[in-house]
Amino acid sequence: MYDIAVIGAGPAGLTAAIYARRADKTVIVIEKEGIGGQMAHSPRIENFPGYPIISGNELACKLSDQAEALGAVIEFDTVTAIKNETGHKTVVGEYGEYKARAVIIAAGAKHRTLGIPGEDELNISYCAVCDGAFYKDKDICIIGGGNSAMQEVVYLSDICKSITVIQNLPCFTGEKKLEDKINASSNVKVVFNTVVEGFESDNGEITAIRIHNTDTNKHSILPTDGVFVAIGHAPENQAFESVCKLNELGYIVSDECCLTETEGVFVAGDCRTKMIRQITTAAADGSIAAIAACRYLDR
Ligand SMILES: Cc1cc2nc3c(=O)[nH]c(=O)nc-3n(C[C@H](O)[C@H](O)[C@H](O)COP(=O)(O)OP(=O)(O)OC[C@H]3O[C@@H](n4cnc5c(N)ncnc54)[C@H](O)[C@@H]3O)c2cc1C
Repeated sequence: MYDIAVIGAGPAGLTAAIYARRADKTVIVIEKEGIGGQMAHSPRIENFPGYPIISGNELACKLSDQAEALGAVIEFDTVTAIKNETGHKTVVGEYGEYKARAVIIAAGAKHRTLGIPGEDELNISYCAVCDGAFYKDKDICIIGGGNSAMQEVVYLSDICKSITVIQNLPCFTGEKKLEDKINASSNVKVVFNTVVEGFESDNGEITAIRIHNTDTNKHSILPTDGVFVAIGHAPENQAFESVCKLNELGYIVSDECCLTETEGVFVAGDCRTKMIRQITTAAADGSIAAIAACRYLDR
């Protein structure tokens, strides 16, 4: 039996593990995919205090090294349920069950899809760091206009021959600094007020996207070698529904105290209802949830 089981090894979960270990609680972190969560997909993080520029992977490694050096156990498994039992919780994974006196859910969020025909069958990419090298010297499109999309544009503009950014709104919604970099890139063209309607392909390879300019009502076909989609994220909290209330978008309902409706179950980071979803706010939540969990255990 562990004192605390943390679900998710993103910045929220790893920070929670660091705080809980420093309070001398035994901690297991259960992660279904890879260390670092979403930030591991970010080529350059430029807004994490203390690091003017750091890759998401490097920051993830630093956090997990710190948590493990303090004695946190990291286990790879997908959590499918949490059982609230007398005196403890049982975290149910695909490969095993983990008993803990308290649980911190830090399950983050996953990329959104466009929801148009062909998206599942064709080779669409959702991660510039992972797939960028496949498109060296190619002409590509990036769909989206927030911070994640803008980071991908900046990163891929050094690799690809040309980039067309397709944004459904009349402007970018991310940081001004990123926008300035994009505007300064000679191989990037931005198309605002435009939505993707479909894909053209040949032998399973994308050859073009069908777009619709909602301002001019013009439909057109844009040839491309590849498509990257970066249109935001959605939570995957169904596994926790028996112990937490979810809002209409699927986020776990909570506030800055990181409590859930079940005693001994806490929530941190992007998976909960909140205004700002960033690495700093996820880490802040991780510390708050860990302190709350330690107080719960020490009552
Ligand atoms: C491309 C990209 C670039 C970004 N750049 C920046 C940036 O520059 N600055 C910034 O501040 N923010 C950035 N963000 C946002 C930032 O990464 C997130 O806000 C932050 O990672 C949220 O942390 P988290 O720990 O709450 O969740 P996540 O990072 O999503 O981590 C959650 C973890 O939980 C795991 N998990 C989920 N469900 C289960 C389950 N059932 N069982 C076991 N494990 C589970 C997931 O696999 C994941 O590893 C970026 C995001 C992306 C996608």
